[in-house]
Amino acid sequence: MKQIIVQKFGGTSVADTDKIKRVADAVIREKKLGNDVVVVVSAMGHTTDYLIKMAKDISPNPSAREMDMLLSTGEGVSIALLTMAIHAKDYDAVSLNAMQVGIMTESVHQKARIIDIKTERLRKNLKQGKIIVVAGFQGTTECGEITTLGRGGSDTSAVALAAALKASRCDIYTDVEGVYTTDPRVVPNATRLDKISYEEMLELARVGANVLHPRSVETAKQFNVPLRVRSTFNLDNLGTLIIGAKDMEIYQPVTGVAADLSQIRVVFCDVPDVPGNAARLFGALSDENISVDMIIQSYARKTTNTNDIAFTIHKDDYAKAKSIFEKIKNDLNARAVHIDEDIAKISIVGAGMVDRPGIAATMFETLAKLNINIKMISTSEIIISCLVEKEDAQKSVKALHKIFELESNEIADVKGDLPDLE
Ligand code: ADP
Ligand code: ASP
Ligand code: MG
Repeated sequence: MKQIIVQKFGGTSVADTDKIKRVADAVIREKKLGNDVVVVVSAMGHTTDYLIKMAKDISPNPSAREMDMLLSTGEGVSIALLTMAIHAKDYDAVSLNAMQVGIMTESVHQKARIIDIKTERLRKNLKQGKIIVVAGFQGTTECGEITTLGRGGSDTSAVALAAALKASRCDIYTDVEGVYTTDPRVVPNATRLDKISYEEMLELARVGANVLHPRSVETAKQFNVPLRVRSTFNLDNLGTLIIGAKDMEIYQPVTGVAADLSQIRVVFCDVPDVPGNAARLFGALSDENISVDMIIQSYARKTTNTNDIAFTIHKDDYAKAKSIFEKIKNDLNARAVHIDEDIAKISIVGAGMVDRPGIAATMFETLAKLNINIKMISTSEIIISCLVEKEDAQKSVKALHKIFELESNEIADVKGDLPDLE
């Protein structure tokens, strides 16, 4: 039986027609090894950002359904062009969008989860010897609606396809050479990791290491998909393997540092300290499908019998959330709502933190020495996060990366544009 390999190429890897031709070579190279190949691609370069900008120029709060119609076109362009590039090199290939494959998602626009992938058509095409090029990021519902999986979701499309097809490997090709101890664009001498556990990778992805979409790691872990992050521009480097924690040896308390600049802090001030108010507040947000990240409820003030409830949400949900804040404030009988858009969540992640006291203290001291004020803190078993001013984000990441001894002697090879740190 032939092995099935799923390859995924991100936006920078297919940014122009020359790069698409190079990707065709990388695909054919895998095919020539005698494997069945399924390729997943993202939209070209910054296409998705550009489409979002056009939508926002037209309406501040566009319909989620129409956003999905719009954004799904980006991946449609890439699959057709890559398939043509493979044909031009005399290999048989076919492009398929999510509807043609049957990538079934729940009926939620803009952040749908995959619930099932039909494999009949894929298996038929593979049997015919074709390379299959699938549109990442998109799905379809039972009613034939188009959905998208959330920014960066093509990684999840690839891993879910690998799980459904019981592929031998899922290779995520990108513009850096693997997973690093922090974003190599921010800290050029970050260290590339040969291996990282699913658990640590999942946390890093959740807190801002956007090299992998968090749900892709979750899916890989759940279905035991061997997952690799590697470079499109250096095919001989095998990059980083993401594996089960039991196969890891832990040397250092901290494996990686990440910054998340996509959050907004909301504070409901002087909320009456009565049972049910927190449920009311977060229930109203959940009814609108708005996810909440860090939550802090302050100690109740005896004089007023009120407390403050602070939390963070994703900035993409801000317009929707804002429209219900006034009503929630009145329902809770709170005094005011404060919004803070200029924040960054800085996190350290490491399975080695467990049972090692002092890691949190080192993190806080490091930030204090730089005179960086911590606005919120959250911790769980293998992660500590601090909310700071956005302008302190880079400084914080660099200092924490250094104090936890994560630097290497080499400068990382990165392609593509610098990240937008605003
Ligand atoms: P793609 O378009 O291939 O999906 P992304 O931009 O989504 O690429 O992800 C790759 C980028 O992730 C890199 O260019 C890098 O700047 C960023 N990144 C953030 N944190 C990390 C990390 N810990 N390791 C590697 N890359 C990271
Ligand atoms: N094109 C989508 C995005 O830019 C999906 C992806 O690249 O994974 O978010
Ligand atoms: Mg990505």
